[in-house]
Amino acid sequence: MREYYPSHVMVEAARRKDEELTTASKLRQRPAAGWLRRGPSPLGLQLAGPIVDVSELRLRDAVSLRRSGREVEADHQRWLPVAMLRARRSSRFSEWDGNLSTLAEPSWLELQAAVSPTSLEHYAVCGFRYLCRSLLRLNTVEEPEERELMDPAARGSLIHEVLEAFFKDRQRAGRPALDESWTEDDLAFLIGLAERQLEESKRRGLAGLDIYSEHEMRTMRADLAAFLEADTAFRRRTGVVPADFEAAVPQVTIGGAVLRGFVDRIDKSPDGKIVWVIDYKTGSAKQFKDVTKEDDPFVGGTKLQLPTYVQAAQGAEEVHAAYWFITHKGEFSFVEYEPTPERQQHFERTVGAIVDGVRGGAFPAVPGKEDEFYGGFDNCTYCDFDRICSRRRDDELLEKLGDPDLARWARVAKVARQQEAP
Ligand code: SF4
Repeated sequence: MREYYPSHVMVEAARRKDEELTTASKLRQRPAAGWLRRGPSPLGLQLAGPIVDVSELRLRDAVSLRRSGREVEADHQRWLPVAMLRARRSSRFSEWDGNLSTLAEPSWLELQAAVSPTSLEHYAVCGFRYLCRSLLRLNTVEEPEERELMDPAARGSLIHEVLEAFFKDRQRAGRPALDESWTEDDLAFLIGLAERQLEESKRRGLAGLDIYSEHEMRTMRADLAAFLEADTAFRRRTGVVPADFEAAVPQVTIGGAVLRGFVDRIDKSPDGKIVWVIDYKTGSAKQFKDVTKEDDPFVGGTKLQLPTYVQAAQGAEEVHAAYWFITHKGEFSFVEYEPTPERQQHFERTVGAIVDGVRGGAFPAVPGKEDEFYGGFDNCTYCDFDRICSRRRDDELLEKLGDPDLARWARVAKVARQQEAP
């Protein structure tokens, strides 16, 4: 059974009783006594009191077999869950952990005809997530009435759509000219577009409760106003003007995968010689800062969009690319990726390692760091498959890192970080 850390709210309440209980770890380790009671675990509850259903009966039978020193064998009704727990708690990377290397039909592990760089990034972050999303095509069903806050992905899509509509409209009027500043009228038009889009999201139940969606609109107004100023400064600094929006990237075969995608925006100098490929981001820039590292520009294989999107700038003499964080949350930072022939080869090797991992059937669940303060794991925060992953996913992964079948997934980060000879 996994040990859980108490929430910071509980730690705060406990500190009022005992001022030495300053962290979740200290509270977890304090023996139960007096004001601190510990309830039984979910399993403990199923083993006590009257039996309520047949599944509880089988569970108790399996537990009493083990307590009497005997094994739960393959003909026992609880054999499958017992086999799963044993496999997950062993050091072997098993079929219960996402090892499909012995799958009878390997063609099932082939990539689709064309794949997005984002789906390959998912594999580098967590193999099991890729398995669920891209191979099994599992999706969660959203219940709008259960939503209190706007989903960050829906907010991001809304901002992308609003900016695309804004730039296309201004472009039809021949704007912006080189070095031209945006005006108050431009800002009013942009905010009008955002308000209409947010109303539409509310109508479809995607914007959360009214009280929060009003706050959402205020934040969005502030973000868009700051973005227009940043955009004027960017164009003056680079001498380019917006040329294309949501442009399809020509399909290209890299490292055994056919890559496809759409780039948010392409800016060009008046003579067409200088091109900027821009991918807007509406979240935090925290996980992107390493893109500028000389030896790890793909951040262990988890940042593959820009090296794919630069294909859209073929023929230009000077190509630049950037993730542009266009909200206060991302502090309007600009994370640049400079494409070079050497980096292109490095990119091919990285994508090749991902394709090898997928074809080799290695799909481990990789949660990332545990957050003791808020609970949960870094990689799992926005993952739809949190409920179906093992609670002990971090410990289990550590146990299995030495398994050669799992090494196919782990190799991706090594190749991306240039820790493996080409
Ligand atoms: S919940 Fe976490 S470990 Fe499970 S698939 Fe998602 S990212 Fe991977």
